[in-house]
Amino acid sequence: MQDPTIDILKRNNLSVTEGRRNILQLFLNHNASALRHSDIESSLHGLDRVTIYRTLQAFTEKGIIHSIPGSDGAARYALCKGGCEQGHHHDDHVHFVCVRCGSTQCLDDVHVPYVRMPEGFEATKVEMVVSGICSKCRK
Ligand SMILES: [Zn+2]
Ligand SMILES: [Zn+2]
Ligand SMILES: [Zn+2]
Repeated sequence: MQDPTIDILKRNNLSVTEGRRNILQLFLNHNASALRHSDIESSLHGLDRVTIYRTLQAFTEKGIIHSIPGSDGAARYALCKGGCEQGHHHDDHVHFVCVRCGSTQCLDDVHVPYVRMPEGFEATKVEMVVSGICSKCRK
């Protein structure tokens, strides 16, 4: 079987590089929680900040990952679960930040509620981040 990272890169017309494969693999390994730029930097030694930044940007543009706003100003990134394509994301799920372990998770089955806009406004993106205690920390 071919390495899934090669498959995903090829499918998205991205050239296969060691750095991209390693970052993608990290996301595949961290399916349960989102990653910060700094998490990637500390997990993958030898990759410089600019390469990581550009890779995250390219993956976001291609619909491979989506960004999640963080309360500390640092964005989190998580794999898209299908349905996303270049320039079009459909990640209309709620994100959860655990105040104990600090993890950010995609709640894929919890949809962001409809937000009614006032006259003359058009919403193009609605994000919802809920904080609390995650199921692992409650045990
Ligand atoms: Zn997406
Ligand atoms: Zn937790
Ligand atoms: Zn998500």
